[in-house]
Amino acid sequence: CGIVGYVGSSGSVDVVVEGLRRLEYRGYDSAGIAVCDGPRVHVRKRAGKIVNLLKALADDPLPATGAAMGHTRWATHGAPTDPNAHPHIDCQGRLAVVHNGIIENFATLRAELSAAGHQLTSDTDTEAVAHLLEDAYAASGGDLVEAMRAVCRRLEGAFTLVAIHADQPDLVVGARRNSPLVVGRGQGENFLASDVAAFIAHTREAVELGQDQVVAITATDVTITDFDGRPAEGRPFHIDWDI
Ligand code: GLU
Repeated sequence: CGIVGYVGSSGSVDVVVEGLRRLEYRGYDSAGIAVCDGPRVHVRKRAGKIVNLLKALADDPLPATGAAMGHTRWATHGAPTDPNAHPHIDCQGRLAVVHNGIIENFATLRAELSAAGHQLTSDTDTEAVAHLLEDAYAASGGDLVEAMRAVCRRLEGAFTLVAIHADQPDLVVGARRNSPLVVGRGQGENFLASDVAAFIAHTREAVELGQDQVVAITATDVTITDFDGRPAEGRPFHIDWDI
């Protein structure tokens, strides 16, 4: 239901948790967060309110610096449980993805992935995307942006997706179709979110992604393409209202 991604020099876990709190008004049944550190992505996720996630973080803290993202879930496929909460990871725990919306062709994709040897551990439509990204990442020679484009070309339905990979702790990749995604442009830090409320405390310079676009953010750069890799532009705007 709500998504926030962050790359920059502030404590990324704190920035993401604060962003999730600012999206709480939209309603949700579970919350989770992932951060890059070393050879893996690290995930904490819990059914219930953000306070449950905060308890999990207090019991087992996450490294606070690499690219990070968070999600509040409003379940459509699979009950609101800890395993079904986002982020979802690939077989090796090297990449993580969060998703708003519905992947209409998930049953076909899950069957294909299972037949190819992927072990899916949740009941969600979303988890198929993590495993598709795993294969597409390998096929692209380690290019998370191209992997996201290749996966989006296979998806049907409505989605905002945000992904991180342990190999690239300074990169957050997002994509959208029929579901919103906005970039927040900061000074030496950048944000992705489903709603500007997530980052308005940090920056008021925003770019709304167009239909069927992929965005890559680092601390200093924002690059937008369409699903085929052609350069594309979002709609820049200044947030001059208060929330
Ligand atoms: N369809 C996904 C799920 O049920 C995402 C739901 C959402 O937008 O939060 O896990």
